[in-house]
Amino acid sequence: MKIIHTITEMQQYSKEQQRKGKIIGIVPTMGYLHDGHLSLVDTARKNGADCVVVTIFVNPIQFAPNEDFDKYPRDLQRDCTLLEAKNVDAVFAPSVKEMYVEEPTCLVVENKLSRGLCAKTRPTHFQGVTTVVAKLFNAVLPDIAVFGQKDAQQARVLKRMVRDLNFPIRLVISPLIREKDGLALSSRNKYLSAEERENALVLSRSLKEAKEALEAGNTSIDSAIETIKNNIAAKGGKVDYVECVDSETLEDVRTKTGREIMFVLAAYFGSTRLIDNILFTY
Ligand code: AMP
Repeated sequence: MKIIHTITEMQQYSKEQQRKGKIIGIVPTMGYLHDGHLSLVDTARKNGADCVVVTIFVNPIQFAPNEDFDKYPRDLQRDCTLLEAKNVDAVFAPSVKEMYVEEPTCLVVENKLSRGLCAKTRPTHFQGVTTVVAKLFNAVLPDIAVFGQKDAQQARVLKRMVRDLNFPIRLVISPLIREKDGLALSSRNKYLSAEERENALVLSRSLKEAKEALEAGNTSIDSAIETIKNNIAAKGGKVDYVECVDSETLEDVRTKTGREIMFVLAAYFGSTRLIDNILFTY
């Protein structure tokens, strides 16, 4: 497995792979990898990537000054061991200085899907994400890009960026991976105390119950949202938002449409902000 730290070397590596006729798949991450990230590598392969590049970069411009950029967990050596075992072809792990020579004055901004949900509390987050992913695409030159359903809004925003800016890339959204007890895998779960982690199980449980109640015709979307909020509060969580949206447009849904919808939420347990969602046709 090749470990690459500079953009020039990354581009050279990818051009060489292209010359050999390889289909390049990119899996962008911030590292501190878990099975959710590793499942994206499998999805890249299943979708035809015969050269998988995992990028590891904690991107400062998607964190607000009061957020956890400095304390975000990092362990490149451990990550590389996990990726080597997955037969990943290359890891691209640039430094902040390599990615941002100085504060960027040219940003990529998506103006619709990145306005609601997480953007209400993280207003500059998505422009940080779209900007860094565009830069990673230009460094890795992939044919396929894989993102997780865990970050449901992010994946839709990036899909729109690929479409609107004509990136010659197929973006694939890979299923959300959970612990056995339902907690969505996340690098930030490390911040949770044992008690907070136990309480946070209310997120996945409430989402599942909301889906089942709707499917059984036992509730409305509005009441399902209220129930989820009450359940979270009862476990000491602080709700950021709970919404029900169209899975493509992210517009609010309040009635049965026969389309794919998702309940999406964010909530704090202690000082840790967790996100979760459930996707189904209703
Ligand atoms: P992150 O390192 O948190 O920025 O995540 C990198 C990629 O992994 C994103 O596309 C995430 O959506 C995806 N990801 C993170 N956690 C999970 C999970 N539990 N299941 C599926 N994908 C995930």
